[in-house]
Amino acid sequence: MTFEELSLIQPILDAVRTMGYTEPTPIQQQAILPALEGRDIMGCAQTGTGKTAAFALPILQHLAAKKNNGSRPRTRALVLAPTRELALQISENFTQYGVHLGIRHTVIFGGVSQKNQEKALKSGVDIVVATPGRLLDLTQQGLMHYDAIEHFVLDEADRMLDMGFINDIRKIIAMLPKQRQTLFFSATISSEIRELSRSMLINPVHLNVEPEVETPALVSQSIYYVRKENKRSLLKHLLRTEDIEHALVFTRTKHGADRVVEDLKKCGFNAAAIHGDKTQSAREKALNAFKSKTIRVLVATDIASRGIDVDSLSHVINFEIPEQAETYVHRIGRTGRAGMTGAAFSFCSADEIAYMRGIHKLTKQKIAVAEHPYA
Ligand code: AMP
Repeated sequence: MTFEELSLIQPILDAVRTMGYTEPTPIQQQAILPALEGRDIMGCAQTGTGKTAAFALPILQHLAAKKNNGSRPRTRALVLAPTRELALQISENFTQYGVHLGIRHTVIFGGVSQKNQEKALKSGVDIVVATPGRLLDLTQQGLMHYDAIEHFVLDEADRMLDMGFINDIRKIIAMLPKQRQTLFFSATISSEIRELSRSMLINPVHLNVEPEVETPALVSQSIYYVRKENKRSLLKHLLRTEDIEHALVFTRTKHGADRVVEDLKKCGFNAAAIHGDKTQSAREKALNAFKSKTIRVLVATDIASRGIDVDSLSHVINFEIPEQAETYVHRIGRTGRAGMTGAAFSFCSADEIAYMRGIHKLTKQKIAVAEHPYA
């Protein structure tokens, strides 16, 4: 299937071509036509499947068909995301996909001054991408208006619930016009998610592109059995001897992330940490340096890593094995994206063998055991 077959207008086709997309991903193939028809969507899809374009392209096309008159547009689309990183990512995608359309959008999240966000809302934007907390703050100050919203997206609904945003989301939904299109995405579907989606969606199209346990086919996985105290040496050894262009390293704790970075820097590697204790500007700086490849190694905790979207990430390294097997699948899904190959290395010490067993059970895959000098 081609993007042309999805009834997209030329300025959008041109933008996706500039992005280097040759073919719509499965979620895009399934979601774009019904979304263009105005249907509600309940999509089970993880980050990395191309779900952002699956909702962003139809929304842009709807808005382009009926341009806001006058100089001060009313907000007609709202996208809610759980983290600043994801909100920024979505906003960047709107910029890229909408490059020929002249549709205004802005991104709103906490942890930074609200001045610019305030200014954007006052001058008027067609699309708002936001995390729930700051959006509600601005709403209480009378800066955000919901009465013209025609398209509403709830992204990573499962993560929203994990992060305790349920009440904020309900408050926001209560302000939305009843007559609207709702696009709902979640990586996992629990009974709580089902209930939430039922309260928001009308006769939705159900899409399920990637079962939770499916590990990316293009990621080669290996496991390094290693003593806990040797993990840092093993990491440096691999960075020296393997062809690792760009690695995202996962630790379980913020403190652990800082320690790994400190050690890497001491030995001359370009590395930075990204986690909840870092300021917003430090996180953005680290992420941008990683994206532009001035930093070779980014060390992250799971929460901070959600929504990190780095093209051509060659390696994911599990410095610590996650307790939840699903987290392993999320982590390694950061590489091997959009048709490229990637590698995932997992460092497993004796106390983590049980977690690894859970991962084998969930993924039903045998992961190759690697030989190394630090066993
Ligand atoms: P997402 O799941 O929306 O975060 O997208 C994951 C990655 O895939 C992003 O880097 C997108 O730019 C990229 N992507 C989305 N759609 C396509 C496509 N049709 N072809 C190639 N890459 C894509």
